[in-house]
Amino acid sequence: MKKADWILHNATVLTMDEDYHIYNTGAVAVKDDSILAVGNEEEILRDYQSEQLFDCKGKILMPGLINAHTHIPMTLLRGLADDLRLDVWLMGYMMPVEREFVTPEFVRLGTKLGCAECIRTGVTTFVDMYYFESEIAKATAEAGLRAICSQSILKFSSPDATYYEESLAKAEDFIKTWKGHPLIIPSIGPHAPYTCTDEILRASSELAQKYDVPLHIHLAETASEVENIRDEYGMPVIPFVKKRGIFDAKVIAAHCVHIDEGEMRTIQHAGAGIAHNPSSNLKLASGFANVTKMLELDVHVGIGTDGTASNNDLDMVEEMRLASMVAKCASGDPTALPARQTLAMATSLGAKAVHIDHITGSLVPGKRADLILMGMDRLHNSPTFHRDPEGVYSQIVYAAKSTDISDVMVNGQWLMRDRELLTLDEEALIKEAQDYAKKIDAFLIEREESVLSKLIAVGGAMEEESFEVQSKVHIQDPDMIIDTLSKDDIDIIYTRHYHEYDTYFSFEKEGEGRLRYREDEFIDKHGEVVNVRGRLTLVGVTREETFDHDVMLSRSRYYAPASHTLRFYREYFDPDSELDIEKDRQRFKINYKGEDFYINIDTLINPDLGHFLEVKSRTWSRDDAENKSRLIAELIEYLGVSSEKAETQDYIEIVENYRNED
Ligand SMILES: [Zn+2]
Repeated sequence: MKKADWILHNATVLTMDEDYHIYNTGAVAVKDDSILAVGNEEEILRDYQSEQLFDCKGKILMPGLINAHTHIPMTLLRGLADDLRLDVWLMGYMMPVEREFVTPEFVRLGTKLGCAECIRTGVTTFVDMYYFESEIAKATAEAGLRAICSQSILKFSSPDATYYEESLAKAEDFIKTWKGHPLIIPSIGPHAPYTCTDEILRASSELAQKYDVPLHIHLAETASEVENIRDEYGMPVIPFVKKRGIFDAKVIAAHCVHIDEGEMRTIQHAGAGIAHNPSSNLKLASGFANVTKMLELDVHVGIGTDGTASNNDLDMVEEMRLASMVAKCASGDPTALPARQTLAMATSLGAKAVHIDHITGSLVPGKRADLILMGMDRLHNSPTFHRDPEGVYSQIVYAAKSTDISDVMVNGQWLMRDRELLTLDEEALIKEAQDYAKKIDAFLIEREESVLSKLIAVGGAMEEESFEVQSKVHIQDPDMIIDTLSKDDIDIIYTRHYHEYDTYFSFEKEGEGRLRYREDEFIDKHGEVVNVRGRLTLVGVTREETFDHDVMLSRSRYYAPASHTLRFYREYFDPDSELDIEKDRQRFKINYKGEDFYINIDTLINPDLGHFLEVKSRTWSRDDAENKSRLIAELIEYLGVSSEKAETQDYIEIVENYRNED
């Protein structure tokens, strides 16, 4: 008789091994952290002895589920902002909140909350990617779960690093510290091709190879990611990252929604795994990954929940069901992704996809004891048929709920017994999480109060307080003015030619100013567009003082480079009204009587309002303003236009007045 620490008997044992052995009635013997034996109850009880017999009362005993892709501490951001497009959600909400709140304390709490949910839903291993990954590793190990923890690397500053060199160094330290831990497999997570530079991709791959750890990355999640890379580099995402050495490492590729058959072959050939995230892809409308084709080509595909901000839970039982149903519907074939194969994706095949099938994923002697018990006798799963022994797989995938999971063991240690968590205090965690939610709520409420704070939150806003004297006159003949500009009294410092597309967002709330999204097309002397620049300007206009001919304006301006699309800003700022203005602008910087002025000769194309002469200058004091105001009036007369008709409105006001007159 061989000695075991635990014998779990009186169970339907689904081994999920290569031959999908089922033992009914079966038993599993566990010693230390590993599975000692798996088989028929009779044989196991005959050959093994243990002081701790565990009666499974006829439940399913199977390998714990593997969540192949998540961002575990994001449990603390669950439900924070939903029903948004990926970029608005990520750049407009998640990242600004993360920059403000994500600290070691935050990730520790978020991880514990996530671990509690994992254990309750039968997950024994998860594959993570986030910040302060060493804190996540610590909290996970304390909770007793197994995890692949990937330290995120981004090209811009992140909550745990200002520069990517810093994150790379951190990642290396993290890997060195945790390599060889019984529960934690450290890894590196260059976030995605669009958030990393070539250098980051290469360096990450080299680091992963140096320490023989997995490399975890988001690939081909959305159609626009693929389009952008295609436009810029003339190739799809998979060859793009392959050229940058990614597949020399052991890759865990999250999503792969938009890849073709050739790219699937590349992934298969490289021995890389894919983490399929049906809920996240459905919720963010990213599309349907062609899992059926991937499996047909022998690609290792696991299932992941993605972070709880895009799912919004960590429930792998639900995720399995969705994976199967999405595959059926996407392929138009109800036989696609059958239940057994789906369960394999969440266990044995999932383990292969994340490069740990030598450790876990099936109930096989020698592997770690990562197992769960699931009851099959509740209302939603009754009755049970025995004609087809494989019916048990469809019971699990199509009818079971994660609440049917009663007991969880990881690495030979019980984490849940009879639905009671043994390593975590669930109630305390829920309370602490609620306290955090209060703080985040307050932060967002304050931010949402002003357009300016929202602008600052998406980054790059620079304040420039400028006082300007300006005057605008409707003119008939721009050429005449251009001719006059070349006369002796005026020095032209430079000339520029643009085509400008302005979209003004207006807000009903008092004092919000107007936000202008401007796309400048620079036009060269041959009339060709040579460069396009996007800019965002928040203008709060206040009339300070009126002079004889002009008005002095005091403006507070905040500039930000427009790094997102107009559509992004529209959805993010949610203006009360919007106005488009298109114009051709010839701009001259000139010197007149010792002072610098900007002269814009504008032709309003949309709406078609003719030509305008705009003269303006920066000013710093009242005396200077008065002097420049006088010079502007003089200059306008000099250019052959009567300054009597000078207006001072912005184009948006001119256009609005024109529309109102209509
Ligand atoms: Zn993700």
